Amino acid sequence: MDNKVESKITKESKVLLPNGGYPMHSFDDVKELYFTYIKNPKDRDMIERAYLFAAKKHEGVFRKSGEAYIQHPIEVAYILASLQCGPETIAAGLLHDVVEDTDATIQDIEREFTPDVALIVDSLTKIQRMKLSHRTEQDFEAEDHRKIFLGMAKDVRVIIVKLADRLHNLRTLDALKPERQQALSKETLDVFTPIAHRLGIYKMQSEMEDLSLKYLEPTKYNEILALLNAREADRQGSLDALQKRIADLLFDNKIKFRMESRIKSIYSIYRKMYLKHYNFDELYDILAIRIITDSVMNCYTILGIIHATYKPVPGRLKDYIAMPKPNLYQSLHTTIVSGDGNIYEVQIRTEEMDEVAESGVAAHWRYKEGEHYNAKEEQRDIEEKLHWFRDFVSMSAENETSDAKDYIAALEHDVFNANVYVFTPLGKVIDLPAGATVLDFAYRIHTKVAESAIGAVVNGANAALSTVLKTGDVCEIRTAKNAPGPNDSWLEIAKTSSAKAHIRRFIQKKNDFLRDDLITKGRESCLEAFSQQDIGPGEMEKLLSDPKTLEHYNAKNLEGLYELVANRNPAPLAIVDFLHVRKRSSKPNLVSIVKTDSKTPVLVNGVDNVAISLAKCCTPVPGDDIVGYVVNGKGIVVHRTSCANVSKGKPRLIDVHWNPDLGVTSKFPALVRIYANDRPNLLVDIMGALSTRGVLVTDLKIHLMEKTMNDVVNLTIYVSDSATILQVFQTILEIKGVYNVERVMK
Ligand code: MN
Repeated sequence: MDNKVESKITKESKVLLPNGGYPMHSFDDVKELYFTYIKNPKDRDMIERAYLFAAKKHEGVFRKSGEAYIQHPIEVAYILASLQCGPETIAAGLLHDVVEDTDATIQDIEREFTPDVALIVDSLTKIQRMKLSHRTEQDFEAEDHRKIFLGMAKDVRVIIVKLADRLHNLRTLDALKPERQQALSKETLDVFTPIAHRLGIYKMQSEMEDLSLKYLEPTKYNEILALLNAREADRQGSLDALQKRIADLLFDNKIKFRMESRIKSIYSIYRKMYLKHYNFDELYDILAIRIITDSVMNCYTILGIIHATYKPVPGRLKDYIAMPKPNLYQSLHTTIVSGDGNIYEVQIRTEEMDEVAESGVAAHWRYKEGEHYNAKEEQRDIEEKLHWFRDFVSMSAENETSDAKDYIAALEHDVFNANVYVFTPLGKVIDLPAGATVLDFAYRIHTKVAESAIGAVVNGANAALSTVLKTGDVCEIRTAKNAPGPNDSWLEIAKTSSAKAHIRRFIQKKNDFLRDDLITKGRESCLEAFSQQDIGPGEMEKLLSDPKTLEHYNAKNLEGLYELVANRNPAPLAIVDFLHVRKRSSKPNLVSIVKTDSKTPVLVNGVDNVAISLAKCCTPVPGDDIVGYVVNGKGIVVHRTSCANVSKGKPRLIDVHWNPDLGVTSKFPALVRIYANDRPNLLVDIMGALSTRGVLVTDLKIHLMEKTMNDVVNLTIYVSDSATILQVFQTILEIKGVYNVERVMK
């Protein structure tokens, strides 16, 4: 590298050219570019054929700006060739409009060229078909944007060609009507520049941003331009002096370098001024000096030399060499006060880093002769290096069917605004959106890791899954074989939509599995109960599917009813009774003699002077549906009709009633179970709530479920009837942490 100082300001920036000041290129210009790096005659031939094919198809058609249509694909190809894209990408650039605008078909392209060229052109055609009409409603916009992203997620080459296409359209926007200028500019800022930024293609990004701004905010654009030009003359002398001084220092130290000066883009000044409310004169980094050298070591040496000579502005030193940006950008940044009191940003990097800074992904994957392009491998390579791209692709795949607005919001939140960088113990950087938690981090490592995660070690200290991570944290996920796995509460903990989607899918799968199991169990119980009434499976299903039956039990369909039965609500026998299909022989005596002894809680139809007791398994209380069961030597034991124990014992059932004359003073035990999130003083609060209600409690046992870290509390309460139980439940549910309470069977 020659030691030379290039002092270029403003003129470098294309937007400063007068309107229409872009040079027009011929296909020979394109050829000249790609001949420097594509040597294979077959590849060269394919590009040339693509040009001839497109030229023929677009023949006689002119653009609104007046030139032949083919000029547009030529310029697109020129941009692609200057990024050193491969032959298929350039061919696709030349052909990108033929399917949309001429009689050529995708099949023609595939036959004449390669399947990959056809695939890229096909994706571009689909993106193109989204017209900018009906752009009044946000929904349409979101839907269109989603389709563009979905199309682009398929192959990174689609993105690069689309960006080149859009860039050239913006350069020639003057020929269009103002509404179209604005719609295209807005779409560019919404969709294309964020992705160009994320791919690190700075050259395209900043030119597209500046052009879009020119059409969207012409007054502000021109104001900034005027400010820049006014200051330019003032600064020129100061800048020249600084560059000369630095160059002398580097010569003295025998360091090879190349130096440029660069003006901040109009759009980024606009953002600072109008979105972040800075004054123009408060912007330190409008002029940056860029020093490009030949090794990483020299970058740090140069930084040392500069800091030894000029005072650095505190807090402005950034080492993107040691910690690259997610779009692979690498450079050292510092801000210094020059001898005359002006402030400059200084960027120091190697030649290779400089290429990546300008062309991003395109520089990394620029075409290398002899290496066969493998789209899948390439895609994997990109996903490996640009972690966000993996999220982008998987989120796009997951969202083919979801709401467009959600998808766009998720993309913006999780991918484009990811700005928290967290390290794995091995030093890999994971970029996450602000507010992301340990759980989000776990999902970014691997779904399997997340599903067995129980916590993490963050910066050497134990941390919960819900811990919010910040830039610079080192996070290691702790997993366990019997970890509880995803559950509803995880949906609250996760902040990224890709993690949420994984969690939702897991829960859905688990529920489906549980549901299938319940349906089978419920059906088996019904089959048993009905077969005891001599009713076979076919007849039973006919009876159960009757809309009246389903409606009575509030079941959507037969499967829903089986699910309810599996939960013992209703018991199969209760359905048998509801349908009036109990076998005659097992029906109790129809003559009913009502016992009037008020001390007996339960009255038995047709039977007198018999010992009656309440079952201990299901603890019936007045108000419950009950049935009597004759036990040899014990008399009649009264069960709830929903009790599993009675549905098995069939012929000795007897109709019983609660004694209507029972007073509220008689109390009956009921077995109850409370589910709650584990916390201190839970039991104290439960006891307190029950004693306030005057409910007597015995047999209270608490049990921590290791799997979920939830508490299960078993207890017996004494109440006068089932209505009271419901009131007590209401009280219990109001206790902090309690999420379920139910009556249980022993
Ligand atoms: Mn086009």
